[in-house]
Amino acid sequence: MPDVTNTYVNKFEEFFTIKAKDRLEKLAEFYPEKRSFEVDYKELEEFDIDLADELINKPYELIDAAEEAIRKMHLVNLNGKVISPHVRFMNLPSENVLLIRDLNSSFINKFISVEGVVTKITEVKPKIKNAVFECNHCGRIYTIPQDDESQKLNEPGVCTCGRKSYTLLTEQSEFVDTQKMSLQENLEASKGGDQTRKIDIFLRDDLTNKIIPGDKLRITGILRLKAPKYKLSVYDLVIDCNHVTKVEKEFEEIELTEEEEKQIIELSKDPDLYKKIVRSIAPSIYGHEEIKEAIALQLFGGTPGKVKSDGMKIRPDMHILLIGDPGVAKSQLLKYVDNLAPKSIYASGKSSSAAGLTATAEKDDYGEGGWTLKAGALVLAAGGMALIDEFDKMSDEDRSSMHEAMETQEIHVAKAGMIADFKANASILAAANPKFGRFDPNVLPAEQFNIPPTLISRFDLIFPIRDELDAKKDAELAEHILTSHYTSGMRLQRDYDKKEVEKAEERVKPDIEPDFLRKYIAYARSHVKPVLTPEAINRIKEFYLDLRKAGENGSVPITARYLEGIVRLAEASAKGRLSSTVDFEDAERAIRLMRYSLRSIGVDPETGRIDIDIIATGTSKSKVDKVKTIYRIIKELNASRGEAKKEDVVEEAKLKNIRLDDIDEIISQLKRNGDIYSPRYGVYKLTGEK
Ligand code: ADP
Ligand code: MG
Repeated sequence: MPDVTNTYVNKFEEFFTIKAKDRLEKLAEFYPEKRSFEVDYKELEEFDIDLADELINKPYELIDAAEEAIRKMHLVNLNGKVISPHVRFMNLPSENVLLIRDLNSSFINKFISVEGVVTKITEVKPKIKNAVFECNHCGRIYTIPQDDESQKLNEPGVCTCGRKSYTLLTEQSEFVDTQKMSLQENLEASKGGDQTRKIDIFLRDDLTNKIIPGDKLRITGILRLKAPKYKLSVYDLVIDCNHVTKVEKEFEEIELTEEEEKQIIELSKDPDLYKKIVRSIAPSIYGHEEIKEAIALQLFGGTPGKVKSDGMKIRPDMHILLIGDPGVAKSQLLKYVDNLAPKSIYASGKSSSAAGLTATAEKDDYGEGGWTLKAGALVLAAGGMALIDEFDKMSDEDRSSMHEAMETQEIHVAKAGMIADFKANASILAAANPKFGRFDPNVLPAEQFNIPPTLISRFDLIFPIRDELDAKKDAELAEHILTSHYTSGMRLQRDYDKKEVEKAEERVKPDIEPDFLRKYIAYARSHVKPVLTPEAINRIKEFYLDLRKAGENGSVPITARYLEGIVRLAEASAKGRLSSTVDFEDAERAIRLMRYSLRSIGVDPETGRIDIDIIATGTSKSKVDKVKTIYRIIKELNASRGEAKKEDVVEEAKLKNIRLDDIDEIISQLKRNGDIYSPRYGVYKLTGEK
């Protein structure tokens, strides 16, 4: 061993003996189940600043020296074996805590720290650390340490017997578990249209099998070049992980100056606060005020961390669905919100792979023939917002895990022996197009959208957007869009009439700048946990009971699930004002939005009343009644005349005010469901009767 290395070993031995003897003795009791020894860099720095410096600059060598130092101390475990733990360092100085995007060649082979979220991780694979070979001719044994990186086995050279032919003795060889993962910059760090950066991380031994995609981590390790598979002059960077800390951040981290905090408090007291916020959400998009207000509340979110007395968690995040005609700015709105939210992910149900939206296990993602666990939008956006466009076009696989995610806020993956539970507590803002071109208010939504009612009913608010002909609105919309184009075009000119452009811009400019609004939202989310006041409780109760009372003939206008939705909305409204109490006005705002949404989507075209079954089961009470009526007619005709001819069924049904269109549809529905059958053309019988 070279002298310098020896010096390092001695210095570390001194450090451990003076500073960490007790902790090492404790570790020895549990060795080898526990086989990592954690060292706080700050402590090492205080003890010997030069040694700490060397660690940053020559980490491989110094970590080896530290591990050798512990072996030299001859601490033994319960079986009398000398312990030889990994030494893992944490708490590097701030100059070495970097953003993934700032990693460059100047940090190669240096000790660094990065933070991020795990997007995918391979299964655990054993890798040979020390390979034991037996010469096929003379039986001599060789132990050859293996390269960390290469897939190829390092063999001994020519044997002393003069031959070169060996057998690998796997039983005698020493293996180590390895795992590879991809770490992506935290979403909060990459706002403003930047692409998020990623880096591959190698994990070994006791660091494996502890991490799942979606985990937020601080990694300390050594940045190094990854040998390319082919001879290229461009290398990838990877990190050899030495230490992992899970970062439990409940809230978006946005740093605020004192001045900004003052401005935030000031804005919260503005009597026109909500008007201003609504005007600042996608100002280039004309109209849709209710939707924008709902989105504002969604951005603030309900009161987090509430648990019912029986231990059931209460979901604070609300989900909103925009369904409607093409070209009404649904996608635009989603993209705008993606830019505005402190933490968010935009994904499309159409283009994303199975992992795109939820989470999955996939074969061969790293090209090494193994399985990889991958996190999708809902997992990566946990604690923030998931913007899902083309919600109606997602794959069946995504759809089924979406059910689970929206209900329990978790996703369970079990595939090829990889099992993982992912947290998926994101707030979903989704957009969907109707199956047949345009939304028809006279047809039940379930028949127009490729989304099952079980999924539709998980949304707190649903907004249909129709592209209606309306001369006044059309003129304003045109003016609005053209103004945007005019002003942004003018700004590209070398000289323009600034006053005029600014005046024109007024209608398309946000009242609150997006950067500041984002900070305002983050502040509200992390600082306020509003509680319902008796006034708010009474108001919500009154609304709920009144609406329930309006139910007629067995139709149900609203269910308790929506009561929780109203509470979430009211809490969000209070949060938006930075108020710690949910007051009457918050309840009012929530009720107004809920009523607007129910009125737009939950009204039975037949009776003009709100019927929650339209959303919850995909059909209305009046429709169900009609189906029952026709079934009864067929039954009675069979009983009285021995058979039910189509013309007789139609005649009877018309007497009960059922339209011809409906009759045809209901008959085919009854046939599809196997309730009736047709023994010969134009005649119907009940299934099970002859
Ligand atoms: P969708 O996703 O609903 O099919 P898009 O978001 O792709 O529609 O919008 C189509 C285009 O029409 C966009 O360029 C958008 O800016 C414009 N547009 C539609 N409605 C409005 C509106 N209300 N205000 C401003 N622009 C609009
Ligand atoms: Mg679209």
